Amino acid sequence: PLVLGIETSCDETGVGIVRGRTLLVDAVASSVEEHARFGGVVPEVASRAHLEAMVPTLERAAEQAGIRLHEVDAVAVTSGPGLAGALLVGVAAAKALALGLGKPLYGVNHLAAHVAVDQLEHGPLPEPCLALLVSGGHSNLLRVEDLTTGVTPLGATIDDAAGEAFDKVARLLGLPFPGGPHVDREARSGNAVAIDFPRGLTSRRDLERHRFDYSFSGLKTAVARWVEARERAGEPVPVADVAASFQEAVCDVLVRKALDAAADQGVDDLLIGGGVAANSRLRAMAEERAAKVGVRVRVPRPGLCTDNGAMVAALGAEMVARGRTPSSLDLPADSSQPITTVAV
Ligand code: ATP
Ligand code: MG
Ligand code: FE
Repeated sequence: PLVLGIETSCDETGVGIVRGRTLLVDAVASSVEEHARFGGVVPEVASRAHLEAMVPTLERAAEQAGIRLHEVDAVAVTSGPGLAGALLVGVAAAKALALGLGKPLYGVNHLAAHVAVDQLEHGPLPEPCLALLVSGGHSNLLRVEDLTTGVTPLGATIDDAAGEAFDKVARLLGLPFPGGPHVDREARSGNAVAIDFPRGLTSRRDLERHRFDYSFSGLKTAVARWVEARERAGEPVPVADVAASFQEAVCDVLVRKALDAAADQGVDDLLIGGGVAANSRLRAMAEERAAKVGVRVRVPRPGLCTDNGAMVAALGAEMVARGRTPSSLDLPADSSQPITTVAV
């Protein structure tokens, strides 16, 4: 099926078009620069930017894909989770398109879409598989039984998301927002074992209750304390070493628990998705450690890890291919849509 996907859950206005599992176009307009000076995404600013970018991005996507909009078989849209006002813009646009074109509408989960996008690059996702979803707002370990209906949460962060930790630590180090890519780049010239930062929820006692859960707020605080102590002593902060050591701590726990969950669930395929999956150290460490225990790792290319419309189209196409029931035209935007609600 030819499916158009719309994504507006945060600060990216994304329109993707796929034919089955083939990506035709991934058009993204980001308002990230408008938020940078605030050090975080400002919801009202994001909503307005989506309004302004929606029609031009739709037109650009159709033109680049070389299709006319009336040729699409279905329209998919992120119905949640995300910023309420931002989601509304995408949902309203998708409803208008579906109604105007007389095509079915599929409201899908943003997080499940972060998982589904890998199919555009690496083909059908083995089911069941394990998914490690790490983004700006989420850090989850999921068992994926059926990409369109059956996602079982095994664990999640009990405080900050991994991407949030990257962004906060970047800020401490004076790096621009969003900080993840900057920490990644700084870390390349740093020493990852220079500072021994804590690995959250890995003590024997914590593992009893939180075997597959994550915690990054203690780590963030440890980095803040370390940097403060340096500054108080009047010594320069070795930014690259702090970035590398922090990144090592995050990736170590993410990969360790993901592989433990894979073994526990008896699955041999691990999919990593979400913005933090773009991290070069996470990708390398996951590959290396998974190979040792016979687990296959799939990670989409970095451009498909961060928010985009192609991921929504990818999940929409899967919904169509599996004959799932479309959404009603009064589909609501749900800012706190649970991961278990793959489609509405
Ligand atoms: P969610 O998907 O939970 O709703 P989101 O959509 O805002 O959150 P994504 O776009 O999926 O988040 O991911 C953005 C996050 O990914 C940011 O926190 C950003 O810093 C982080 N990120 C992006 N690239 C990298 C990288 N190379 N290394 C580490 N983190 C990264
Ligand atoms: Mg973003
Ligand atoms: Fe996201």
